[in-house]
Amino acid sequence: MNCFSPQTRGRLAPSPTGALHLGNIRTFMITWLLARTQGGRLVMRIEDLDHPKNKPGAVTGMIDDLRWLGFDWDEGYGCGQEHDSAYLQSRRVEHYAKALARLIEQNLVYPCTCSRRDVEAGLSAPHSDEALFYEGHCRDRYLDFAAAQAKLPATRVPAWRFKVPANLAVRFTDGFYGEYSQVPAELSGDFVLARHALGAGYMLAVVVDDNAMGVNQVVRGDDLLAATPRQILIYRALGLQPPAYIHLPLMVGADGHRLAKRHGDTRVAYFRETGISANRIIGALAASCGWAKQGEEISLAALLPRFDLSLLPREPFVWRDELL
Ligand code: GLU
Ligand code: ZN
Repeated sequence: MNCFSPQTRGRLAPSPTGALHLGNIRTFMITWLLARTQGGRLVMRIEDLDHPKNKPGAVTGMIDDLRWLGFDWDEGYGCGQEHDSAYLQSRRVEHYAKALARLIEQNLVYPCTCSRRDVEAGLSAPHSDEALFYEGHCRDRYLDFAAAQAKLPATRVPAWRFKVPANLAVRFTDGFYGEYSQVPAELSGDFVLARHALGAGYMLAVVVDDNAMGVNQVVRGDDLLAATPRQILIYRALGLQPPAYIHLPLMVGADGHRLAKRHGDTRVAYFRETGISANRIIGALAASCGWAKQGEEISLAALLPRFDLSLLPREPFVWRDELL
């Protein structure tokens, strides 16, 4: 892989939990512009690990929306049949299992038999300010995995939790946010990596995949900023180099919460069906970043010479229906 290439390698990593909305597109637009203005490459990875919120048909819909809006990418899903499965997380479970085995060998994880609900919540991306806090109940509870399994009914398997070092502050410099420091032992405690033999959750998969795919620039919403130190701990435990991170302010509804269904229909597919052009959508999003005038229609490619991350407002962007 191109791990040693000085070239920027970014990624688009949608989860097929529904149709893409304007908030997703705003982040993807900036991801695309960052990679392209640096002459870098973009990878398309589908984060479709088994998740109750995954919707059938969502992958096709997302790819179709992105192409319609003018996005392109160099590798990954949608770049030709033989490529697709290598970039679907659901088809990459053996890679996560290998990484988990290394962590087990190094005694950096332990089996946990606590509530199924906690474990399930810990397996998906934590798009929220409050990390789930785990007090370490199972840390020294079981002599080995078999002892943990024996504690559960046959229908359940233990989870694997990462041993977060006590008192350790994890620091990194975010490309937009700036200096960030956190003590993961205080925020999240030991966090869920995987369910035994059933596969990895988001935290482990994202690290394994970004590394395997040579991604050295991760651009995403700042709802994942607080999850980043946990990912850096996994990189270190696996002896890998973390990427550069750029966390962007989110698009929110009038109530200040992350854009969701209750804020009205902001799906790309909805605007497309009502006859609104791709360039109008891109124009409205570019205006929110300070790169276009209100109401201007512009293509993604035409934004390249206007791209300037320093113009991006630092606060969340509040969506209003009249913007489109
Ligand atoms: N697939 C994740 C999501 O859509 C993105 C995770 C990431 O960018 O690290 O929530
Ligand atoms: Zn436990």
